Amino acid sequence: MKLWKRLMCTCRRRSPWLFHMNSGSCNGCDIEFVAALTPRYDAEQLGVLLQGSPRHADILCVTGPVTRKAADAIKTVYAQAPGPKAVVAIGSCPATTNVFIESRTLEGPLGRHIPVDVFVPGCPPRPDAILQGVAKAAAILAERADHPPAAAPVIKPDAVEVQR
Ligand code: SF4
Repeated sequence: MKLWKRLMCTCRRRSPWLFHMNSGSCNGCDIEFVAALTPRYDAEQLGVLLQGSPRHADILCVTGPVTRKAADAIKTVYAQAPGPKAVVAIGSCPATTNVFIESRTLEGPLGRHIPVDVFVPGCPPRPDAILQGVAKAAAILAERADHPPAAAPVIKPDAVEVQR
């Protein structure tokens, strides 16, 4: 593997950059997520850095049960994050829609809209559980970067027979 690629894999494992998205949560999970970033729980031990744009993020951390208004935004944010990327669903809401299950304003759970790599259960989960989830996602991400999916075969123009 080329040196720059090896360096990128190591950086992802050691310093994943996060983007946080609330898809309609009650804010309980968001408070715990923010607590995980404080010096008390020391997310920086994982080299974690919170980013303001999904374009700079390796890991998307999503809270909430996915409301109708948030469904399209979630897909847009997922598309904006550069690959390889991983998704962490924080709390029971993105996994199952939880206590909001009968709401007519929901389009969750999250897995219906984007692929989810790590579920952190709890209502809300504790900050240390969230950090564990992020660490797991960083390991998945590094694995993905080490073994990217095979590129589509390149077909040379002169190899294509044109039907007339
Ligand atoms: S899992 Fe619980 S705390 Fe988190 S957003 Fe849902 S209801 Fe709120």
